[in-house]
Amino acid sequence: MEKEVVIIGGGPAGLTAALYTARAQLNPLVIEGYQSGGQLMLTTMVENWPGVEVEGIMGSDLVAKIRAQAEHFGADFLSEDVTEVDLSQRPFVIKTPSQTIHAKSLIISTGASAKWLGLESEKALTGYGVSSCATCDGAFFKDKVVTVIGGGDSAMEEAIFLTRFASHVHLLNRSDKFKASVIMLNRAREHEKITVHENVVVDRINDVEAKKVTGVVLRNTKTDETQELACDGVFVAIGHKPNTDLFPTLEKDEVGYLITQGAKTNVDGVFACGDVQDSKYRQAITAAGSGCMAALEAERWLE
Ligand code: NDP
Repeated sequence: MEKEVVIIGGGPAGLTAALYTARAQLNPLVIEGYQSGGQLMLTTMVENWPGVEVEGIMGSDLVAKIRAQAEHFGADFLSEDVTEVDLSQRPFVIKTPSQTIHAKSLIISTGASAKWLGLESEKALTGYGVSSCATCDGAFFKDKVVTVIGGGDSAMEEAIFLTRFASHVHLLNRSDKFKASVIMLNRAREHEKITVHENVVVDRINDVEAKKVTGVVLRNTKTDETQELACDGVFVAIGHKPNTDLFPTLEKDEVGYLITQGAKTNVDGVFACGDVQDSKYRQAITAAGSGCMAALEAERWLE
């Protein structure tokens, strides 16, 4: 299959790039992965997407609407993961388990994935009470006690969401400075089911041998004292890392985010948009805006 434009990633950045390139009659192919929609699929209500109902829109509904718009104007979709990308040939070669696709131009919108603490016990108990997605797993913790790790907006959102199910939520931040916005932090602090703990890190999650979460061993970073906090589930919400392993030849920053000028990467004809190249704003609306930029750049480059 040969395409003018291939877009890898089906979150708000990729789907907006698809909408624009489809309207430009470029018949783009979006390789959206087995799990399409990006991080908006892992969130609940999006309250800061302009122009929708005042109370917001569900993340999954927003994705479905942008996808339908792109499809309406002629975008094609492939629900597989990309296994290999060769940018040394022209057209570029992109492989999935079932297809080899040749692309004159490429838009990368592979987003970012959840980060983990890196503890052995965390790894051993992932799927057994340790999770990075409250929307996906929160319902398993009805009337249970859960711990959320992190001090950013994601952690606040996860903690608030989990109060729907859990009897109590402990929120752990490693310092007394929070990355979260004041409004989200206050919502968490004021919630009767949430206790906010400051200056604590998790040394271990118990109980690996029993293959279930029974508590976390906390260490106070000021006093070095440790204590066990009993809980039935642990949600890690400490940020994300960009999904750039498929692109070893593209220029990246020290964390791994693609470096772009506008939407251009260091390879002619390859553009990037959304969280894969944005370590600063990381919002659905900025991802969509950068998707538009990538589409316009690709269109001009193809001309
Ligand atoms: P952030 O980078 O904003 O926050 C990460 C948090 O995790 C920080 O508190 C950080 O602590 C902590 N952390 C990082 N590594 C560790 C570790 N190893 N152990 C313990 N704690 C750790 O990431 P988020 O995912 O929260 O947010 C990303 C972006 O998405 C932000 O721009 C945010 O505003 C946005 N967002 C917006 C939402 C909304 O508006 N509804 C919802 C969710 C996210 P430290 O400060 O010490 O580094």
